[in-house]
Amino acid sequence: MLDTLGGGFLSKVGGSGKGVGLLAQPDSTLPTVVKSTVRFAVGDLHPLDAGSVSSGSVGSVAARAARLGTLGTLARFASAYGKPGQTVGIPPRVRRFMLQAGARDLLPNERVGVCLRRSIPGTPGVSVLYSPRQKAAHYGGLMVCGSVWMCPVCSAKISERRREELASAVAAWGGQIIMATFTLQHTAADGLVSLLDGLQEAMRKMRSGRAWMRFQEQHGMVGSVRALENTDGINGFHPHQHVLFFVAGGVDVDVFTQQLRDRWLASVAKVGRYASPKWGLNVKATTADIAAYVAKWGKEPKWTAAHELAKAGSKRGRGDHSSMSELLESFVVLGDVEAGTRWREYAQAFKGRKQLFYSPGLRALLGLIAEEKTDEEVAAEAVEDAVVLAVLDLAAWRVVLANDARAELLNVASSGDPVQVRSFLLRLGVELGGISDDSS
Ligand SMILES: [Zn+2]
Repeated sequence: MLDTLGGGFLSKVGGSGKGVGLLAQPDSTLPTVVKSTVRFAVGDLHPLDAGSVSSGSVGSVAARAARLGTLGTLARFASAYGKPGQTVGIPPRVRRFMLQAGARDLLPNERVGVCLRRSIPGTPGVSVLYSPRQKAAHYGGLMVCGSVWMCPVCSAKISERRREELASAVAAWGGQIIMATFTLQHTAADGLVSLLDGLQEAMRKMRSGRAWMRFQEQHGMVGSVRALENTDGINGFHPHQHVLFFVAGGVDVDVFTQQLRDRWLASVAKVGRYASPKWGLNVKATTADIAAYVAKWGKEPKWTAAHELAKAGSKRGRGDHSSMSELLESFVVLGDVEAGTRWREYAQAFKGRKQLFYSPGLRALLGLIAEEKTDEEVAAEAVEDAVVLAVLDLAAWRVVLANDARAELLNVASSGDPVQVRSFLLRLGVELGGISDDSS
């Protein structure tokens, strides 16, 4: 098998970049899929890996997706997990890697394209690691991109960590929490970058000046957590900001809302945009509302059979709102190139923007580690109790990549059994040297 690789690809492995570290995934109970035939095609190699970089247009996205086998991969997954054309049974980790491959097709020049594919220069190879405490497997020695907007694999890990933190922040506050959602009016003709800039600038104006200080004092506000989100619908992209305001107990929510709305509408007008008095601000303040928001924050929406039907029938259900992961999923699962193009526009517009923001001093007040880790740091966090199940040299790792078997290898490794890992790799045509001593 390795002979078919030739020498040309191997010299490209390694590359450059500063991503480092390990990535753990929590799923440990996923079914094992073993292919009966080993698939290896030169066409599966990404332009980045092959050393050439191309930028994407609409046409080339579809062409690349077809050439690189995104849809072919899907067909393979679909037949392994359910009826052809139905993908709802695909385990979460396989799905995330599959979506990551779609993101890579759409954004060949971004770091998501090498995330958990390219090894860190100077490392001996790619390690398959197992954490007995988490009962889960992960890779070591591979670059991670740490992009919360672009990478389904990294964002799952980052969001999980941030969600836990947010939940403990909410639990630590003895007063009241009021959640507000801020939106602007827009049409399908609005550019996303300009909308986003308008939204964030209006938020900044709203929170500045003497009047805002008086507002904070009046309601005993100690700080806030802002979360940036986006959906897509009939009127185009709908970027919006959820804010959890940490206020004193017993605040009159109606008075708070009225004052906040007045400030919001005025701030939006100052940046030359419009927010509707009725829809521009939405406030929720019950404990149940806050808990439900935090529990769901950053989670991928479930892609159900009903979803698939609706999206396939109506080009991602125009009229209702699609989440960004639904857009990417429509591209990957249904071959919806328009959805893929929309997703790419979103990813480029959100790149570099912070997803979750604590006002200064709030983290310390609520007992969180005062210095917040960056997304990249969270994505690269190592698992302390990890044991090595296998080490793959670059040629062996190439075979795993060429078979789109990254997720499946981890699923097998989630057994914690090096023998199973070995035999899975053997089926791909990879024979490991030297690991048998460690596993006996
Ligand atoms: Zn990533």
